[in-house]
Amino acid sequence: MHGHDLSPSTIAVGAGRPDRVPGGPLNAPITLASALVPGGASEYGRHGNPTWDSFETVLGALEGGRALAFASGIAATTALFDLVPARAAVVAPRTAYYGSLSQLHERARRGQIELRLVDIDDTAAVIAAADTAALVWIESPTNPGLEIADIEAISRAASQAGTAVAVDNTFATPLRQRPLELGADFVVHSASKLLSGHSDVILGAIVTNSDRAHSAIEARRSALGAIPGAMETWLAARGVRTLHVRLDRAEANARELHKRLTASRQVSSARYPGFGTIIAFEITAGPAAAQKMTEQSDIITYATSLGGVESTWERRRRHAGESETVPEGLIRLSVGIEDVEDLWIDIQNVLAAVS
Ligand SMILES: *Cc1c(COP(=O)(O)O)cnc(C)c1O
Repeated sequence: MHGHDLSPSTIAVGAGRPDRVPGGPLNAPITLASALVPGGASEYGRHGNPTWDSFETVLGALEGGRALAFASGIAATTALFDLVPARAAVVAPRTAYYGSLSQLHERARRGQIELRLVDIDDTAAVIAAADTAALVWIESPTNPGLEIADIEAISRAASQAGTAVAVDNTFATPLRQRPLELGADFVVHSASKLLSGHSDVILGAIVTNSDRAHSAIEARRSALGAIPGAMETWLAARGVRTLHVRLDRAEANARELHKRLTASRQVSSARYPGFGTIIAFEITAGPAAAQKMTEQSDIITYATSLGGVESTWERRRRHAGESETVPEGLIRLSVGIEDVEDLWIDIQNVLAAVS
């Protein structure tokens, strides 16, 4: 039908819709079903649901593989870690999303895996650790430190060593980074964040371009029962329709705010990887002032999570589980799609109040 490769924006809007039939809906309906008529793709609601397919199709098309939706990002991560053979080695970032790391630490404590922690931006160290490992777990950019991994170089070396590579692509989204094209074997998402985009969904996904791995992960999902709800996948598919527009706007805001934060005398450091919607910064007044500041803002919401249309921020170490390698005063700012001048006035006001 198409004479050329479609752009990601067009895929985001169009993929995963039902066939066009007279009188039929443009969007996949929300199918609430525990049992389905035998003879189709699935006959029990824990194994499959037509509403999941819509989200999985559009995400798979954007990432260049086949997607499977899970109950949450962590459910997806857990299902993937479950595929690591007993007592095999897993390479992972020293600092990354703490829910994923705590899964790995727990498995290591029980003697189920050997955990090799690395600085994910030290490519030589990652490659050295990947030798004889079963899996390299990458997050890039990392949450909340925003370190960047060289996915292509790591994947090339890992593939020669027979080591699988999985990338948590939550922060970049397939519109800014396509790990499967860079040689990774798996992409993992917390679709609760930018993909859904409105802070109203908990959902995860794994994408792979190996049919064998796809089947193994699908079997794991059924076995664990870590399945998404029809409503959540419907909302996420709707969120993806506007991902490119939200991302462009939030990214432009983030770039500008990072520039202004960097120039501010009240800010001691501000990190932004050059793409995405997350800024990590510290203020000269210290951690207690940082905590106070995030609680006092007017437009920016004091809240955890990220990737919504509304700007949110928090001091990450307020969570007991956050890694001690994350600075005590680090504020993670998730930039939304509001007017950038309004956001900057809000930031300046609270900075002035605590400095
Ligand atoms: C939030 C997050 C997760 C966990 O996803 P949930 O949907 O909350 O289970 C995993 N990785 C990253 C990078 C995240 O930000």
